[in-house]
Amino acid sequence: MNDARTGAFELVLKLRDAGFEAYWVGGCVRDMLLQREPKDYDIATNALPDQVLTLFPGGHAVGRAFGVILVPDSGKHVVEIATFREDHGTVDGRHPQRVSFSDARADALRRDFTVNAMFMDPVTNKILDYVGGRDDIARRLIRTVGDPQQRFEEDYLRLLRAIRFAATLQFAIEPATADAIKKHATRIIRVSADRVRIELTRLLLEAPRAGDGVDLLDQSGLLNAILPEVSAMKGVEQPAQFHPEGDVWTHTRIMLNAMQTDDPRLAWAVWLHDIGKPPTATEIDGRIRFDRHAGVGADMADTILRRLRFANRDRETIATCIRGHMRFADVPQMRPARLRRWMAQPEFPTELELHRLDCQASHKKDDSQKIIETMQHQLANRISLPERWIRGTDILELGLPPGPEIGYWLQEAYDAQLNGISDSRDELLKWLRHQIAGRIKTCRNGDYLVKRKPFAGP
Ligand code: ATP
Ligand code: MG
Repeated sequence: MNDARTGAFELVLKLRDAGFEAYWVGGCVRDMLLQREPKDYDIATNALPDQVLTLFPGGHAVGRAFGVILVPDSGKHVVEIATFREDHGTVDGRHPQRVSFSDARADALRRDFTVNAMFMDPVTNKILDYVGGRDDIARRLIRTVGDPQQRFEEDYLRLLRAIRFAATLQFAIEPATADAIKKHATRIIRVSADRVRIELTRLLLEAPRAGDGVDLLDQSGLLNAILPEVSAMKGVEQPAQFHPEGDVWTHTRIMLNAMQTDDPRLAWAVWLHDIGKPPTATEIDGRIRFDRHAGVGADMADTILRRLRFANRDRETIATCIRGHMRFADVPQMRPARLRRWMAQPEFPTELELHRLDCQASHKKDDSQKIIETMQHQLANRISLPERWIRGTDILELGLPPGPEIGYWLQEAYDAQLNGISDSRDELLKWLRHQIAGRIKTCRNGDYLVKRKPFAGP
């Protein structure tokens, strides 16, 4: 037994020793029946929240009204212990107006899908299945517990959860459940942005083929309700010479299917990277173009990610990746200084992986492949920017007065160093003295003046 499992086992035993019923429940039971490693173990019991807290004084009530107590196990895990309950008054996607504590059967009936509604006795390994969950696991089906229409009307997030589970478990959706999803799809917008974002991100990261998951979102009508900008990629044709695989939607789907990551920023950058193509598509003399699609797409992504209430830093990273995703085409002509500064940015590894997937899902050109491999090698070996040879004090010693010009010349000197203008610090100093001499003159009072305003830049 592993740690999490042992810890959750001990907690069940302790509840049982105190005379209560207790089982493992939900996702962990489903995963064990599928021979998958459960992410965590949840416990359901007939002990009331106060009784759970008396038994586990280190517990923490997260939703005492809902009867959920977080209890640290003997290791480093925290286990959710929930009192059997039924929800009342969950209509039109709102929180239940009242819950009442009840028994295992009622607790199974309030859960979303049959495969998520089973209990397991960890001592005997017996399964308690009131809803036909075991059959649905065998048939690999997502089916609501009870009437699908009613269950979705209670909580519209379940529409999205059905797709997430179908995609992550690679199950089909049972026809009546699928019909009800289609019928209610547009109501997903009544669910809070945070809950939607969490489900979408889990789908992207956990589905073995996220592109197929995104197809399911599309077929259900949920995609158009949540992300119409993504739906718009369908049928947007691309030049066959760069994109033999097909339209923008197909290209994105292939990338998502190839993606293996636990980084939400990469996943979202992949999903949205060409979102600027539909609004920028033009055809001139039979040639398809998407001028400025990266910049337009980055701005659109910013709007979408704000709507979904992403953390600012994640939103900025994703937008940066999208804005820069065509820059790789310039790498062969790029000055070394510019390239090295870019590669030293914290977002760069994510940008590079986005680019690798982008090439792999389209033209697969050998020269791009070589550039990517070289960059990957440099990143893996942490070839970071070298130390500066020239510091502020050197520039002062060259006779320049303190002031904003110092910063300008520091930057010039470092760019020159990175661009390999000289082989040593001494040579670089010489070069710099020469540059500065060409740009300044001495005033009568002995001060220096820079002839050309340096901040106009190169
Ligand atoms: P995962 O392993 O992906 O976390 P899970 O089944 O544990 O899957 P959770 O979201 O952690 O999913 O929820 C735990 C359990 O709570 C579910 O198995 C389900 O029984 C129940 N549940 C969660 N969300 C809902 C909901 N919106 N409506 C009804 N039941 C729900
Ligand atoms: Mg879970």
